[in-house]
Amino acid sequence: MLLTKLHRPCRIVTHNFSKYNSFSTDKRSINKEIRFRLASAYRGLDSYGLNEGVCNHLSAIAPSSKTDEDIMLIIPFNLHWSEVTPSCLLEINNKNEVIVGEGEPETTALCIHKGIYERRSDVKAVMHTHMPYATALTCLKEPQLLMLHQNSARFYKKIAYDTIYHGLGDSFKEGLRLGEVLEDKSVLFMGNHGILTVAESVDVAFDNMYYLERAAMIQVLACSTQQKLKILDDNVAELTYAQMHKVLPAYAKNHLDSVIRRLMSSCKDFL
Ligand SMILES: [Zn+2]
Repeated sequence: MLLTKLHRPCRIVTHNFSKYNSFSTDKRSINKEIRFRLASAYRGLDSYGLNEGVCNHLSAIAPSSKTDEDIMLIIPFNLHWSEVTPSCLLEINNKNEVIVGEGEPETTALCIHKGIYERRSDVKAVMHTHMPYATALTCLKEPQLLMLHQNSARFYKKIAYDTIYHGLGDSFKEGLRLGEVLEDKSVLFMGNHGILTVAESVDVAFDNMYYLERAAMIQVLACSTQQKLKILDDNVAELTYAQMHKVLPAYAKNHLDSVIRRLMSSCKDFL
C-alpha cells in the first residue's frame, strides 16, 4: 500500500544530550547536568505559560563548578524564562554570594529558596510560580486542592497551606517561616501569592508543577459548572497516590526529556 504522508510511520528524532544524562560522579559533570535540566525546566514551564513576567524562580542544589562546596543554581533577575540557558544560571554559595555567573538573583528568590533549603536538607530542587489556576486556589479563604481527579491524587496529603500573607517574601526570616510551614510536604500553597513545590530532583519538581496546575485547573473548571462534585474516596486517593509514586521519577524524567528534545530541535540558542 502506498503510504501517504500522514500514514508514514513516525520517525523518532533523537538528540545527543546523553552527556547531560550521564551517571558520572564527577562533580563538574554533575553541575553541568543539573544546569542543563534546570534550564530546560525554565524553558518547559515557560512554554506551558506557568511563569509571570521576569519574576518567579526555579532553583536546584548542585556541586559548584568552581569550588568544592554545594551551591544553589538560580536565574539572574531580569532574564525572561524563554532566555534561560544552562550557562546563564548563577551559583550562590552558603554565604549568599554569587560565585559564578553574571548578575544577581532577585531578593525574594534568594530569601524564599534559601529558607526552604535551610529547613529541608532532603530537598534538591525548589520551584516557585504564580501559575494561574493553582494560585487562584491560594486566594480562597479556605484553600484546598480537592481529591477530584487522578491528577489531584498525586498530591494526596502532600500539600501544606499557608494562609498568612504579609507582603513580599524579601527576608530570610520569611523564607525560614515558609520552610517551617511546608514541614515534610512537597507542595506549599502560599496564601494570596502562589505555589511552591520541592523535590529530590529537578525532574520531579518540574513534573509536579505541571500536574499541580492541571489538577487545580480541573478543580476550577469542575466548580465552575456549579454542579455537585464527586470527591474521590480516601482509600482510592491513597491507592492512586501510591501507584503514581512508584513510577514518578521515571515518568518525570521522560516528561522533562520530551521538553529537551523539543528545545534541541527548535531553540538553537539554548546551548
Ligand atoms: Zn512569588
